[in-house]
Amino acid sequence: MKQVWQLLCVLQGHARFKMKDIIALDLDSVLGDTDIIIDKFMQERFGLYLDWATDIQVYEFERWPCLTSGMVADLEEFILSGELAHTIQVFGHAKPAMDKLVKAGFSIYIITARPLHLESMTLEWLKKNDLYYDKLYIVGESIKKPPIIKAHNIKAFIEDRFDVLKWTLDHCGPLDRGLYCVRYPWNSKFHNDHITKVAHVEEAVDIIINEYV
Ligand SMILES: [Mg+2]
Repeated sequence: MKQVWQLLCVLQGHARFKMKDIIALDLDSVLGDTDIIIDKFMQERFGLYLDWATDIQVYEFERWPCLTSGMVADLEEFILSGELAHTIQVFGHAKPAMDKLVKAGFSIYIITARPLHLESMTLEWLKKNDLYYDKLYIVGESIKKPPIIKAHNIKAFIEDRFDVLKWTLDHCGPLDRGLYCVRYPWNSKFHNDHITKVAHVEEAVDIIINEYV
């Protein structure tokens, strides 16, 4: 009888301290509208109107054929100074999506490739927009995202960069609740059976919650 009681206590303790499943979200172009700020910057600084369907192949400015090296340097300065992070507007779907994840019992990790010196500005931005999350990882380079996803056994990942999702797939395999790519003109050419294209972060969250019960 004593042994049965001890076993019940262990099982109860296990249930009480069971880890929540973790969902990872990128920040730029997933929670906030980064592209519109870059668009505005290029128009105002250089009179250049970007065609996002043809000018941009990857999210590495130095590889955009429409930009001169001077334009790339100015754009990088705009980003590294924090001016972009300061100006960015939150997407209307961001807060409802994150609230749904919390209500469904998930933990939220935000993993961004922003440089570390933008940490306080990023924290302020998340607070200002009333976005709840459990952990923020500021990793500096996108290539550092997949090891974090593997190390924490993250169940789903929402990103706008298709190459980062593909690296994650190669590093971790398909995640239990999926890999999601927020659709943009510049990632429309890329497809993979294990990566689901979505219109916005809330569409991905609805799939994560409702299609994996
Ligand atoms: Mg992004």
